[in-house]
Amino acid sequence: MALTLERNVLKFYQGLEQGIIYGRKCTECGAVEFPPHYACNECGYHETEWVELSGKGVLKSVILPVSLNADNKLAAIGDYCFGIVQLEEGCEFNSTIFGVNAENADAIRAKLPVPVHAKFVPMDGYTTLLFEVDKDAL
Ligand SMILES: [Zn+2]
Repeated sequence: MALTLERNVLKFYQGLEQGIIYGRKCTECGAVEFPPHYACNECGYHETEWVELSGKGVLKSVILPVSLNADNKLAAIGDYCFGIVQLEEGCEFNSTIFGVNAENADAIRAKLPVPVHAKFVPMDGYTTLLFEVDKDAL
């Protein structure tokens, strides 16, 4: 690993290198935090524990890249968009999603939410978590 990481994010990035997505689950109400937080945003409780996430969810919005926010490293991997992903565990966040382009974006928008799955991408010396539209959703 090329980066020096704080201990509390090290486990997260080590997980990604092994294809495991870690979130934090509230020990009081059971809400899952992703990206991992050490307190619960749902009920405010101060104790959470590591939990492995499925990497399966749905895409809820589609924003195609334009020149101002286009990323050559992402484009080299494949067609992509930005959007809100909601995992099966309930947590929602902004992500990069592969499998969407100018030709199919309108058809995908008409079907939202569409199923997506985790895509582990080596980038800049570490593994990052991005997503990809399920093939049978297109
Ligand atoms: Zn909670």
